[in-house]
Parts: sequence; C-alpha cells; structure tokens
Amino acid sequence: MAPSIPRSCDVAVIGAGPAGLAAAAELKARGVASVIVLDREAGPGGIPRHCDHYPFGLREFRRLLKGPAYAARLVGRAEAAGVDIRAGVTVTALRPGPVLEVSTADGLVEIAARAVLLATGVRETSRAARLIGGTKPGGVMPTGALQGLVHLDAIKPFDKPVVLGTELVSFSALLTCRHAGIRPVAMIEPGPRATARWPASLLPRLMGIPLLTGTEVAAIEGDGWVEAVTIREPGGTTRRIPTDGVVVTGRFVPEASLLRTSHLELDAGTGGPSIDQFGRCSDPAYFAAGNLLRPVETAGWSWNEGRLVGRAMADALAGRLPSSGGGVRVVVAGKPLKYVLPQRIVANGAPGSHACFQLRVSEAAAGRLALRLDGAELWGRRLSSLPERRITVPLDVLGAWSTGLAEFVVGKRSA
Ligand SMILES: Cc1cc2nc3c(=O)[nH]c(=O)nc-3n(C[C@H](O)[C@H](O)[C@H](O)COP(=O)(O)OP(=O)(O)OC[C@H]3O[C@@H](n4cnc5c(N)ncnc54)[C@H](O)[C@@H]3O)c2cc1C
Repeated sequence: MAPSIPRSCDVAVIGAGPAGLAAAAELKARGVASVIVLDREAGPGGIPRHCDHYPFGLREFRRLLKGPAYAARLVGRAEAAGVDIRAGVTVTALRPGPVLEVSTADGLVEIAARAVLLATGVRETSRAARLIGGTKPGGVMPTGALQGLVHLDAIKPFDKPVVLGTELVSFSALLTCRHAGIRPVAMIEPGPRATARWPASLLPRLMGIPLLTGTEVAAIEGDGWVEAVTIREPGGTTRRIPTDGVVVTGRFVPEASLLRTSHLELDAGTGGPSIDQFGRCSDPAYFAAGNLLRPVETAGWSWNEGRLVGRAMADALAGRLPSSGGGVRVVVAGKPLKYVLPQRIVANGAPGSHACFQLRVSEAAAGRLALRLDGAELWGRRLSSLPERRITVPLDVLGAWSTGLAEFVVGKRSA
C-alpha cells in the first residue's frame, strides 16, 4: 500500500505529463528536498500514455519512441531523481498560501507547499461546446477517450466512425483507428483545407478515407447509439452518412478548470494562466508550464518548458528570482492574432524560462507583425502564418523597458 500523501512539501506539481515530470526531475536535480507530483489519472505520464504511435522522445532521450514508452521513461527519470509521484489523486482547488485541496482514495486532504507548478495540459473541445445539433447518443468521443479505450483498455468502441477535424491529433485518431481495425467512413473539416501540415494530411488518402473539406456536421442521429450524421457540404446541400461513431478531434483548450475557481489571473487569449517570463502566475508562489499555457504544442516542447520552469522554481525557492511586481504587460491587438505569452515581462526583461514570445493567429494572416510599446513601434517583421502554426519572437525585442503596455499588431506589409 502506498504511504499516505504528505500534507506539506517544498513543491507540489499538478499533472504528471511531460511538463510536470520534467519540472519535478529538474527541481530534484537542483537540490529541492521534497517534490510531489499529483495526477488524477490511474497512472502517471500524461497524454503520451495513450498515444501508441511515434514520434516522441527525440529531444529528451535522443530516441524515436512511441508515446507509452516515452511516458514510462519520463516517469522512470523522475522517480530515479527522487520525485514522489501520486496517481489517482485529483486536485480540486487552489488557494493562496499556496494550499491545495486534494481528493484521494482516503478522502479530502490539504497539501501546503512552498511553491506549486500547474501542468494540467489541454483537452479537446467537446461536442456540446461545438453546438452540433441532433440527438445525444453514445459513440461520440474525443481522440483522448478513443485512445484510452483502444490502447489502455483494449476496447473497440465502433467499426465505422466519422472523424471530425484535421489537426495533427485528428490524424493520430486515424492511426488509433487503424491499430484497432476501425475503418472511418469520412474525415470532415469545416475549413477549406486540412489544418495539419503535409505529410500528415496525406494519411486519409493512404488509408482510403474520403476527406471532406468545407463541410460541417449539422446533426448527429441515433437513439441510444450513433446511427448517422447529417453533413452540410460546400454550397449548402445536406447529406446523410450512416456511421456508428463520431470522433470529435482537436480545437484544444487549456485544462484550466482549477484556475477558473481560483484567485489566479486567466488570460482570455490563451485560456491558460497569465505568466511572466519565469512561468510565474499572478500569485508568484504558483508557476505554470506545458500545454496549460496555450493550445497546443508538442510533448517535446512541453517537456522543455517544464524543465526550464522547474529551474526557475528552484531559483525562486533559493531567493534568486527578481520580484514579480510591475513590469511590461504584453497583449495582442486582436484579429488575426489570437494570443501571446508570456503576458508580463518583469525586471527589465531579465532572462527567464521563456526566451521567446509565443503567438498564434486565429485565421490565415499575411502582413507585418509589429510590437508597439505605449503606441510607439519597437520592432517589426514580415508575417505569413496559418492558424495552429507556432510563431516565436525573441523576448529581447522588447529591449530594457520596465513598465508600460506592449502590443503585438499585424498591419499591411510595408512596401
Ligand atoms: C488527445 C490528445 C492527443 C495528443 N497527441 C499528441 C501527439 O501525438 N504528439 C504530441 O506531441 N502531442 C500530442 N498532444 C499534445 C499534448 O498536450 C502534449 O503531447 C503533452 O502531453 C503536453 O504535456 P503536459 O505535461 O502539458 O500535459 P499532459 O500530458 O496533458 O498532462 C497533464 C496531466 O494533468 C493531469 N491533471 C489535469 N487536471 C488535474 C487535476 N485537477 N488534478 C490532478 N491531475 C490533473 C492530467 O490527468 C494529465 O495527466 C495530444 C493532446 C491530446 C489532448
């Protein structure tokens, strides 16, 4: 039997995915005495646990690994460093202190820590939030649930589903289907083209699955279980596709439920916590890393972010981080820009865990990306980007400004 959960520690990490585990191992490597990682799933490892496909691990282990093997290595590395990992434990509230309210098999407990890392990742937008009409039968699920059923529980939930979406994760859903002997009857994308880059977007053709672009799912039918979907094709005609499942993929959102009921500041653009360049939240005893910060990056990117934020947390515990007060507030001016992070730069841009601003657009954009401070332009360059593509800008374009409002804007390309 696992020893009962400690009621106090130096650092509590919420989320045993790549970001949380990397941060925890880094904290131990830097001499932090007690580091505990809490995860609500039955086992640690985060999303890669049920991504039974390549490519994971190149950056971290210089090996091409499948998700479960990668997750196991991350867990092994953290345990070898002396991290206390507790699965099946859900954090239910964040309070100043910091103090966590935690639900365990033994009941509700409180854990007091000197610092907390939030690393709760992302989830896919549900069917309900996408406002798809029709009935509410069984057989409609996100990729994560499909992967969990197939790879962790060896269950084949349907035979001929439709797959909604064309982000990278949607192609991962196709691979999961192939693994389980499931034959999707269509892949449906509301936009004019597949969101993921070539070569992933070749997969439907290789698997003989029709890719229907410019097409919406208007309704799901079924009494108890999915029987068909009605699609609206370009030009407005509707058509019924018989099917026994719907995989609702992508449109990631940060898993920020804990933040919404907490005292911490949320950023409307990313949907995650507002942070400074050290990964510190509005309460500086709380830090955040990984995909909770924004939808969505790869496991390797999240792992690296966790490692660097872990380093900053060790510095914070040793009293080596600059004060979190004041600083430059960083925002985006609106469409086509969707978000920027970090949202605060303190201590005249002292180097932190984030060396770059991360931005995304909400629609295809071409023009000039510029950074203005209190209205005056500091920096600019040409931009051409599609949604879901990573855009980075070195933090030092801000110079040594210590206060003010910095705003990223996209304007017309200069002649
Ligand atoms: C369905 C899906 C498929 C994906 N496929 C890929 C892929 O193939 N390749 C890739 O690079 N990226 C993929 N991603 C992106 C994925 O987010 C990253 O790979 C990576 O897992 C991010 O690491 P993380 O540590 O930020 O979060 P995660 O790996 O998501 O880990 C977060 C952990 O926090 C835990 N948690 C959340 N809330 C609580 C709480 N209140 N209490 C306790 N624990 C909590 C969760 O159980 C989870 O284990 C996928 C994402 C999803 C949702």
